[in-house]
Amino acid sequence: SKDVGRNSFQLFKPSMNARSLERLAMMSRFQHALDNNEFELYFQPKQCLKSEQIMGVEALLRWHDPDLGMISPAQFIPLAEELGLIVRLDLWVINQAGKVLTLWQKEGLVAGRLAINISACHLSQGKLANNIGTMLKHYNLPGSLLEIELTESSFISSFTQAKTQLQQLKKLGVHIALDDFGTGYSALSYLTKLPFDTLKIDASFIAKIPDEYGNSQIVAALIALASNLNLMVVAEGVEQPAQKNYLISLGCNVIQGYYYCRPLTQRQWFDFYRLNDLS
Ligand code: C2E
Ligand code: CA
Ligand code: CA
Ligand code: CA
Repeated sequence: SKDVGRNSFQLFKPSMNARSLERLAMMSRFQHALDNNEFELYFQPKQCLKSEQIMGVEALLRWHDPDLGMISPAQFIPLAEELGLIVRLDLWVINQAGKVLTLWQKEGLVAGRLAINISACHLSQGKLANNIGTMLKHYNLPGSLLEIELTESSFISSFTQAKTQLQQLKKLGVHIALDDFGTGYSALSYLTKLPFDTLKIDASFIAKIPDEYGNSQIVAALIALASNLNLMVVAEGVEQPAQKNYLISLGCNVIQGYYYCRPLTQRQWFDFYRLNDLS
């Protein structure tokens, strides 16, 4: 499509036509999914290693397609990005977060912050803080109930824009977590230049501890770094007791993963909370 100007016949190549039709079909299917409540949030609690209490919960998006069944976010998030629909999906998640937090408050469910994943391009558009602020106002919620999880790719296209947005979110009381830490281009200078509260160490490092020396050293160093910078550290993808024990020995604050709890439907999450909240 880059050569369209030079050769307009390109547009009518059958392969091209088929592809753009497929694209249109996917876009309308996506819009249909948004309009018909085919998306759902699941909830995965995080555990504080010191108190053993639930200290927060991450919302994870699911798509139930009536024909294809459950589609993983690993599949549809990149697709939504490619189709230019990702911000619309983010807005759905943000609004849904407002709804569930309102419900949880009504039900007396107090489990730390609700963390939502925000796509990288949303930040560079310069509207994220405003969108979240509008939602909080609409539901009359304090920003302190919310955390956003961002990956490093969010800061690459426009650092200044990202910084302004994050500062505005901090003013609302919203916490900011750097997700998948260690997997990106890892310009460590981001850590002090942007107002993060939390680092989430990527599951790929956690998978190989404590048996593999190299990864164990990396995880130890990341936890020390976070703690010296006064950042909360969450280990992702903890599946084994040996991983948990090693993380405790390193002074890690929080774990998340199948060992503590799998992502749950809203109803399962209520049950888990009632069984596990000892406060
Ligand atoms: P993520 O933010 O790094 O989320 C963690 C992923 O690891 C989730 O996959 C979760 O279900 C999975 N997980 C949790 N504990 C364990 C464990 O112990 N072992 C293993 N093997 N996996 C574990 P999920 O739900 O399939 O989401 C994949 C990715 O899709 C997320 O990675 C996130 O980048 C993206 N995503 C999910 N929900 C949203 C959303 O609402 N908005 C956006 N923009 N992205 C989302
Ligand atoms: Ca996340
Ligand atoms: Ca992650
Ligand atoms: Ca990830």
